[in-house]
Amino acid sequence: MSDVERTLSIIKPDAVERNLVEDIKKILIENNLIIKDSKKIQITKEEASEFYKVHQSKPFFNDLCSYLSSGPIVVLILEGANAVTAYRKLMGATNPKDADENTIRKLYGISIDKNSVHGSDSLKNAKSEIKFFFKN
Ligand code: UDP
Ligand code: MG
Repeated sequence: MSDVERTLSIIKPDAVERNLVEDIKKILIENNLIIKDSKKIQITKEEASEFYKVHQSKPFFNDLCSYLSSGPIVVLILEGANAVTAYRKLMGATNPKDADENTIRKLYGISIDKNSVHGSDSLKNAKSEIKFFFKN
């Protein structure tokens, strides 16, 4: 069974800084994820804290929010069959060291914190994360 879904992707500061946006977009498209919208923005630490609030009790929370707000990011709405799961698989494990070959994090991630991309982890979170960045 396949459902057409939408999910949220973020190309994080480490990847934007290394000019990897076009390479990452190419991988998404080659893997049948349609880019419905995308924009380059920079968010404040407060906005990053709101976005990552599920992690507020974690030891890495403060560094994570500082990092996500440290430079430009690209936020994208992706659409495709089972897009939430399909994109999580394409992204690879949180720690690039553990990511499968040919995943975005294996190819480009530097470390567990500078892991190049974000992806929603459920359809419910995808909907709220898309709303967070693309309000209208
Ligand atoms: N993170 C970190 N240290 C950790 C775990 C996570 O810096 O020990 C960062 C990492 O950049 C990750 C983000 O926090 O992408 C959110 O963590 P999550 O567990 O949701 O991983 P993801 O869903 O991004 O794979
Ligand atoms: Mg997550």
